[in-house]
Amino acid sequence: MTHVITSLCVRDRGCIEVCPVECIVPGQPAEGWSMMYIDPDTCIDCGACVPECPFAAIFPEDEVPAVYTAKGGEYINKAGLTGHYEGTNHHNKAVVLETTRQLAAGEVVDLTPDIKVNNDFFKSGPGYAAKDNDQGT
Ligand code: SF4
Ligand code: SF4
Repeated sequence: MTHVITSLCVRDRGCIEVCPVECIVPGQPAEGWSMMYIDPDTCIDCGACVPECPFAAIFPEDEVPAVYTAKGGEYINKAGLTGHYEGTNHHNKAVVLETTRQLAAGEVVDLTPDIKVNNDFFKSGPGYAAKDNDQGT
């Protein structure tokens, strides 16, 4: 099994440095690969990344919610969305995203499509090569 980063990720980067097998990769270019991704073939399911995420975006694969009920105010971040987000990451660098949508309290979203997005990033997307273009945001 693996852990999966869902589209609740807004590129905080807190998870990257705790992964003992360095299998969390920042999406680049961020317009097309807007979050961070976990390599399912390398993840050892240690769970260390989960408490490091201030946005509660990481789940074991078999616990990714098909019915996620929003608290209100959190952002979904995925290619194709057009909402604006500004924040600061774990390293105090500005993060600006134009691929978001803010959720309303009680709104229900299915996060399970993000499992395939994580897989696609490594199977048909940039994968580890994205690290070469990483700008730290
Ligand atoms: S800590 Fe959470 S929000 Fe930050 S990059 Fe990791 S998964 Fe995304
Ligand atoms: S569960 Fe462990 S091995 Fe898998 S991505 Fe998180 S920190 Fe890395």
